[in-house]
Amino acid sequence: MRKRRVVILGATGSIGESARKVARDLPDRMEIVGMSAHSNAEKLREAAKEFPGAKLALSSEPGGSEKLIELATLPEADMVLIAIVGTGGLRPALAAIEAGKDIAVASKEILVMAGEAVMNAARRKGVHVLPVDSEHNAIFQCLEGQRAERTSNIEQRTLKEEPARLPADSKFDVHCSTFSSANIRRLILTASGGPFRTWPAERLADVTLEQALKHPTWTMGAKITIDSATLFNKGLEMIEARWLFDVEMARVEVIVHPQSIVHSMVEFRDSSVLAQLSVTDMCFPIQYAVTWPDRVPNRLPPLDFARLGKLEFEAPRLADFPALNLARAAGETGGTLPAVLNAANEIAVATFLARGCSFPAIWQTVERTMSEHRSVAGADLPAIMEADQWARRRAAELLRP
Ligand code: NDP
Ligand code: MG
Repeated sequence: MRKRRVVILGATGSIGESARKVARDLPDRMEIVGMSAHSNAEKLREAAKEFPGAKLALSSEPGGSEKLIELATLPEADMVLIAIVGTGGLRPALAAIEAGKDIAVASKEILVMAGEAVMNAARRKGVHVLPVDSEHNAIFQCLEGQRAERTSNIEQRTLKEEPARLPADSKFDVHCSTFSSANIRRLILTASGGPFRTWPAERLADVTLEQALKHPTWTMGAKITIDSATLFNKGLEMIEARWLFDVEMARVEVIVHPQSIVHSMVEFRDSSVLAQLSVTDMCFPIQYAVTWPDRVPNRLPPLDFARLGKLEFEAPRLADFPALNLARAAGETGGTLPAVLNAANEIAVATFLARGCSFPAIWQTVERTMSEHRSVAGADLPAIMEADQWARRRAAELLRP
């Protein structure tokens, strides 16, 4: 049995809160050795009472970004959970990888912006990137069976005893890139459809902030809740999946599933589909990222299929919610374009949250910013950072009243 010593970056957020709950539930498996908040000092202090040994950092204070790096590279930590909203977790994530820590990634924005750089760094250092986003965690679980089949007994033993020490080029390496991707026909991401799933297109112009903040199935931070309403969340997740599992965009699909019980699926080349299901609670994927490769009993509620009654699926409304096509285009073009999409979206969402623009202005701004950008192919990290900064400036200009 392996206890993981975990640093939580973004410990005061919605994911941070669920992660602390998992640590309380499984003290033999998860010890919190560090926690950060941005500015909510009181909530961080409150959280620290439960985990008295943990080192703390406030990232909004002077020198805050250095403190985040310090936490991400704490000698006593073996895993860093990136639960910071937006791209603020990118540098700490790369620092954690360089220091040989596994990373558990909730913060999809860093994989959209710089997925190739993050995955390459992890591969080079032989550390694991464990998906926390529920869809990707589901896909990861579906692919695990694949891996076991392909693994000899001796290899399986090694995997069980020393999962963190596998060589970087190991064929069952959990960056997932070495899961035989030839066997995968499609990754099928499920989407709740958000609060406006059934709204006629012409009503979307009048969506209020309060309406957009009411997610039908998940309780989450404000930014991701708005992303779920525009479907940019699912768009970001398509690009996230492309990098985590090293499959091209054409093999990443989205299906609307209003109940959010099937968290995602993998279709293999024999047309068989595996899915992962659970109650909608982020403690499930967080726990699996931390206890992987073990399954550990917990206090989470099991599914009651008879009470559920039915699970529904429908095609996404691509014409009315342009986020999905914009994300597909960004993921297919690659280079700096995904970073531009992500940055413009972050600015537009912040503006919408401040009541500074309409709901459709979010995707209109992203589309316009993307169309004005000439993507740099094979971009390195500095080029990506530059594109990110340009897109933030340009989106802010476009949104100015
Ligand atoms: P929240 O807004 O609830 O929490 C964000 C956390 O990040 C807080 O701890 C906040 O600190 C901190 N933070 C905010 N801005 C910065 C910054 N500039 N630098 C450093 N830290 C910062 O977000 P969520 O927990 O909902 O989401 C976190 C990430 O996880 C997002 O990327 C989201 O897409 C992803 N995710 C979330 C899911 C969910 O169920 N919530 C599901 C799947 C993915 P403070 O409290 O001090 O402001
Ligand atoms: Mg998700």
